[in-house]
Amino acid sequence: MKRYKIVISLLILTGLGFGNYLAHRYSFNELEIILVNSFIIILYFFSRVTIARRERRLSSINKEYERLNLIYETEHNDTEILHILDEISASFMANKNLRAVFEHTLDGIQQVLKAEIVLLEIITEKGSIPTTKVVRGLENLELNDNIYMKVIVQGSSVLINNLSSYHTEYRRYKSLADQGISSFLIAPLKLTKEPIGLLGIFAKEAFDFTGEELRLLTTFTTHASLIIENARLLETTRRLSITDELTQLYNFRHFQNRFKNEFQRAKRYKHNMSILMCDIDYFKNYNDTNGHEAGNEILKKVAGIMTNSARDVDLIARYGGEEFVLVLIETSKDNAKLFAERLKEKIEKETFPHQEKQPNGNLTITIGVAGFPEDAVTSNELIEYADKALYRGKKEGRNRAIAY
Ligand code: GH3
Ligand code: MG
Ligand code: MG
Repeated sequence: MKRYKIVISLLILTGLGFGNYLAHRYSFNELEIILVNSFIIILYFFSRVTIARRERRLSSINKEYERLNLIYETEHNDTEILHILDEISASFMANKNLRAVFEHTLDGIQQVLKAEIVLLEIITEKGSIPTTKVVRGLENLELNDNIYMKVIVQGSSVLINNLSSYHTEYRRYKSLADQGISSFLIAPLKLTKEPIGLLGIFAKEAFDFTGEELRLLTTFTTHASLIIENARLLETTRRLSITDELTQLYNFRHFQNRFKNEFQRAKRYKHNMSILMCDIDYFKNYNDTNGHEAGNEILKKVAGIMTNSARDVDLIARYGGEEFVLVLIETSKDNAKLFAERLKEKIEKETFPHQEKQPNGNLTITIGVAGFPEDAVTSNELIEYADKALYRGKKEGRNRAIAY
């Protein structure tokens, strides 16, 4: 503004000088001199007003431009967030995998906020401390109770820049400083009131996060919470529909689907596959003597032993009341027979409550084994032959593993 005044003054002076020069050159009288000078002064004031008006307009255009730019950036970020949220939903619908949803959520927040370290924690059981954790950018990151209290229980966000020993909240978040974190931004994942977890971004440097980043994280978590909750519900429904409630093994219906698929695969790739039909010996006696509840405990324990004995790829299901079926993938009949022997011995050696009251003084199982391609051509035959072997084992006195 000062420069502007100086320029105007100089122009007036130059103008007046020029007026004087004209007056001298053409010998103006006094009236003419006054007229010329007044004209020059009026001209400059007029141009000054015009310039000032133009400047005002320019500055308001500039301000509008900045405002639009900010709106554009905000809209751009929000669109990016919506786009990422869409991708997370789509990926879940495609593979129905909750873990993939967590991973995509972290990808998304890393992308939007250009964060170096991100953390997602989810409450999977009742309580206020999350039990599922996914971290990126660090081996591990431990939050503390103060954070859980504020974010999960109270449902508020935390934004800390420059967490040094001078910081007023240093003591509260010291455990994070001890892990090399200087600034962080954590927002709750929640459904209206119910908390489901938290999502945070962290940096080793100070002063990394702004209010805009808090806004973006909050926008993101609001939508991500819904997606995660939907994914969780769908996964739970799916799990319930395929598992047997008592033993937590696959139920008969799911077994049939999976078994048919696995059999087709074995046939196509010419892989071995074996099946074990297992039945608890004198189980009616156990129930009659000790009650149905005690019988249920046996079923759970036997199911647990089977799960621990098999590999992850194998298929274990509750086939009926006290009957279990194991499908050993890529396993020959001979190896399946060895596995069945060991499983039978494990149950024989295990101490079950009241087992001494059983007819043979012990709680035992009988197993029938059949193999593909050794015995059967179709999946139905494989089951039928394993059943036949089981029947033989029962006839031969029980507590046995018999190959067809
Ligand atoms: P075997 O040695 O020949 O197999 O004799 P068993 O008594 O085990 O055979 P049976 O088929 O006669 O009896 C099976 C019993 O399993 C009948 C039923 O009371 C019991 N049972 C079936 N389902 C359940 C269940 O879910 N819980 C309990 N507690 N018992 C069950
Ligand atoms: Mg039976
Ligand atoms: Mg039985």
